Amino acid sequence: MFDIVLCQRDFDEINKCFGHCVKFEIHEFEGDSQLRRFLNDGKKVLLITTKSSVKPDIFNLYYMPKTGNCEYYYLSKLNLNGDELEACEKYFPDVRDISVCADYYSAGGVFFIDRIDPVGMPDFSREVMPILNRYFNIGDYKEALFLDRDGILNVDHSYVHKTSELELVTGAYEFLLDDYNKKRLKLVLTNQSGVSKGMFEYTDVEKFNDALNESLHHLIDAFYIAPFEFTKGVGQYKYHSLLRKPHPGMLLEACFDFAIDLKNSYMVGDKVSDQLNFPLLETIHLKNRYPLDGVKYLASSFSEVLKFAKSLPNKTN
Ligand SMILES: [Mg+2]
Repeated sequence: MFDIVLCQRDFDEINKCFGHCVKFEIHEFEGDSQLRRFLNDGKKVLLITTKSSVKPDIFNLYYMPKTGNCEYYYLSKLNLNGDELEACEKYFPDVRDISVCADYYSAGGVFFIDRIDPVGMPDFSREVMPILNRYFNIGDYKEALFLDRDGILNVDHSYVHKTSELELVTGAYEFLLDDYNKKRLKLVLTNQSGVSKGMFEYTDVEKFNDALNESLHHLIDAFYIAPFEFTKGVGQYKYHSLLRKPHPGMLLEACFDFAIDLKNSYMVGDKVSDQLNFPLLETIHLKNRYPLDGVKYLASSFSEVLKFAKSLPNKTN
């Protein structure tokens, strides 16, 4: 796990709760030079701080490479609300889409626990402890199957949104029911830029999702929707959004809603952009109508998807 936990605050409480049972050292955060020293020694550090608006899933962050990004759940939320953009820009002035963190700390393998309120401090018992507790209950984490929607579950008629156009992809239902997928959480991550382009409403997407799930006998545990698009978008959804694939925002929302073992989960999609910018998650592409040059796993049928999925290295410790 982490080698060292540094606490900018709540040091005594954290030490009291976990100091006797954890395998890592817990120190009070003393400043950059202390942090640099640990990093220079190659330590993996969890910093509990208010420095950045990041709320990590500690279990999954542990498995992220040291160069991995931890601009996390809350930043994906920020773009949903225009008023919050200012805060986002304040922290990350160059971009609204943040996929790679140039920040010294995360680039060095340091992860944060924090809250959205940029001026407030996290409430220890309400916000920090549940995260730490979750970290110690890793048995609760479930493997997931992440799914693109159009072209994977329903036939992609291009901007499909009317329930009358709903047509299941042949083999999709059986794929979800396969033994390998049966016990997994099934979570749909769908870009729906048609909403931002004014072609249909967000509620149309929800209705379509409901109808789709109905026809799949409610095998889908949750749908995540990214209605944003910047170039051709208009109105309130004209944003660069972290939620829009290949950015990992929807995935991170899902990780907030469910305890997901990302390293043993996988994603299935039919576009290059379904490969999310998140190094823990493997993606298998199913050949459809889009170019898929250079993807890692290219399947031409659901049975091939399963074959690839079963060959993924099992990363359970
Ligand atoms: Mg698709």
